[in-house]
Amino acid sequence: MNIILLGPPGAGKGTQARHLVETRNMIQLSTGDMLREARTSGTEMGRIVADVMDSGQLVTDEIVIGLIREKLEGDRAGGFIFDGFPRTLPQADALAELLAAMGEKLDAVIEMQVDDAALVARITGRFTCGDCGEVYHDVTHRPKVDGVCDKCGGTNMKRRADDNEDSLRQRLMEYYKKTSPLIGYYYAKGQLRTVDGLAEIDDVQKAIAAILD
Ligand code: AMP
Repeated sequence: MNIILLGPPGAGKGTQARHLVETRNMIQLSTGDMLREARTSGTEMGRIVADVMDSGQLVTDEIVIGLIREKLEGDRAGGFIFDGFPRTLPQADALAELLAAMGEKLDAVIEMQVDDAALVARITGRFTCGDCGEVYHDVTHRPKVDGVCDKCGGTNMKRRADDNEDSLRQRLMEYYKKTSPLIGYYYAKGQLRTVDGLAEIDDVQKAIAAILD
C-alpha cells in the first residue's frame, strides 16, 4: 500500500505516519525530515534549504523530488507513506511517474482536515523527542516526567526553528496557494479520502485504518 497524508502543518500527519510505521511496517517518507537532515550537512545546499525552511516557504520541486526519488530506490516493506510530499502539482505529477516506473500505484490520498485556529495552538506548543521522534505538546501532551521521553527515555527534546507564529503564517499561505489544489486534483482522480484531523489521536488512527483495511 502506498498512501499520501495531506494536510496543513500541524494537522497530525507525522503522528499518524509514525503509527502506521509501527503497526503496518510501512515506510514514512517525510520530505520535511529529509530536509532537516540536509540542513545539518554543512553544505551550501544545506544553508539555502535552512533559510527557505525557516522563512516558511517551499523548497524547490527539483530538490524534494530528487530526495524522494532516492528513497524510492530502497526497501519498499509494507509500502510508502508520503508525509508532506507532494506539496505542489508538479510534485504530484512527478510522484505518479516515479511510482508508475516502479510498477507501483497510490492506494489512497488521505486528507487530514483541521481548522486554522487549532493549527496555531498545536504548532506553537509542539516539541519532539530528538532520539525517537515522539511528538509532544506544552499543553495537550506533556511527557510524564518533564524533559524525559515517555517512549524511549531520551532527554533530547527539540523544537523546530519554524514552529513559531510568523513562520506558521507563511507555511499556511504556501499550503493554501500551492498544496491545497492537490485536494481537487486527487478528488478528480477518485483517490481522495478525508478524515477529521481534530478528533482524538486514537480516533484519527481508527478512521485511517478503516480506509486502509
Ligand atoms: P514539514 O516538516 O513537512 O512541515 O516541512 C518543513 C518545511 O520543509 C516546509 O515548510 C518547507 O520549507 C520544506 N518542505 C518539506 N516538504 C516539502 C515539499 N514537499 N516541497 C517543498 N518544500 C518542502
